[in-house]
Amino acid sequence: MQILIVEDEERVARFIARGLEAEGHRCQVAPDGAQGLREARHGDYDLIVLDRMLPAIDGVALCRQLRADGLRTPVLMLTALDAVEDRVSGLRAGADDYLAKPFDFDELLARIEALSRRGGLDSSETLEVGPLCVDVPGRRVTLAGSEVELTALEFDLLRLLASSAGRYWSRERILNRVWGSAADPETNVVDVYVSRLRRKLGEGAGLIQTRRGVGYCLQAPAD
Ligand code: CA
Repeated sequence: MQILIVEDEERVARFIARGLEAEGHRCQVAPDGAQGLREARHGDYDLIVLDRMLPAIDGVALCRQLRADGLRTPVLMLTALDAVEDRVSGLRAGADDYLAKPFDFDELLARIEALSRRGGLDSSETLEVGPLCVDVPGRRVTLAGSEVELTALEFDLLRLLASSAGRYWSRERILNRVWGSAADPETNVVDVYVSRLRRKLGEGAGLIQTRRGVGYCLQAPAD
């Protein structure tokens, strides 16, 4: 997994990153809340380990902001405080789990693994991004109430983007998740399908954003 660690204590950040890298994960460390927010919004992460007390933007505010943006990446919040009200405020802000410092690395790892099993593509829900509604079990898509006819692959691509609105997906990862790891990494099929989706979405085409060198993202229009 690609994991973002937002932690201002260098020693703790290094301890977590080294341990997770030894387990085969790739880690990026952000040393304050503002950098953490930027990374989380524009990076391609499977999970975020988020310290609660951070300079610039604290962990609770950061988490609330990410959820308000529509980002569903699982968040494990770390804290030096272990009072019930601190746990509750973290969870209310949209964190998926909570771990008090000092913690045992094995416990951190177990919680990360549990979160990653719960995360990912959920097949039993309706995903809403602005006027777009993706009915996952029914495999139907509506835009402002009107049905949009999609092929199976177009649906899978849109569902992937809708499952983590606000998060950029690289072509490589889209290819991997929608077409499978056997797909030729040199192919431009992702770009072709994104333009088809945009055409079919018509007025909703602007929901799919492109960032050069980063990838694609589905984002609700700003109010
Ligand atoms: Ca801290």
